[in-house]
Amino acid sequence: MHNDIKEVLYTEQQLEQKVQELGRKISEDYQGRNLFVICVLKGAFIFMADLVKHITVPLELDFMAVSSYGQSTKSSGVVKIIKDLDVPLEGRDVLIVEDIIDSGLTLSYLIDILERRNAHSVSVVALFDKPARRTVELTPDYTGFTLPDEFIVGYGLDYAEKYRNLPYVGILKEEVYSKA
Ligand code: 5GP
Ligand code: MG
Ligand code: MG
Repeated sequence: MHNDIKEVLYTEQQLEQKVQELGRKISEDYQGRNLFVICVLKGAFIFMADLVKHITVPLELDFMAVSSYGQSTKSSGVVKIIKDLDVPLEGRDVLIVEDIIDSGLTLSYLIDILERRNAHSVSVVALFDKPARRTVELTPDYTGFTLPDEFIVGYGLDYAEKYRNLPYVGILKEEVYSKA
């Protein structure tokens, strides 16, 4: 285990099992259709890579990067698109892949943008959800794990851009934050 990790919340095996389960459910629901899968960078990159291996309907995928405009505007949920999609969404069945939903602001703004591009449907899969932290009404169509209000790292999720490479998900030791 990494020296900065206090506790492992989900092991590599638990994550793999959950991702498989989500892939199966999504494949059932989209039977007979084609999917357009969007990975929201950077946190969802490992989740998306593992998830698509378990989706059996034909799909295309792309990446989007968004960032909040800053603390003062964050409450309005306004985000800036850093990297946009390469193709139009007109008529497509879109699945947004998110690492974790916290306040829900980033995602609700993103859903708004994508729906205005005349997608046929827009759904969301989030590996982690912290519903207690929500400031806007938003329930993902597919959720991996529901978490209490705790900050997690690993499996794509960072603290100060580190720990994304950990194959498990855990909580950092207090001293890691106080050093920062
Ligand atoms: P929201 O707009 O829902 O408040 O922001 C969600 C984003 O905040 C996530 O995509 C992620 O980048 C970050 N975030 C929220 N909770 C956590 C957490 O527990 N750990 C990490 N590493 N990032 C988080
Ligand atoms: Mg994210
Ligand atoms: Mg982050």
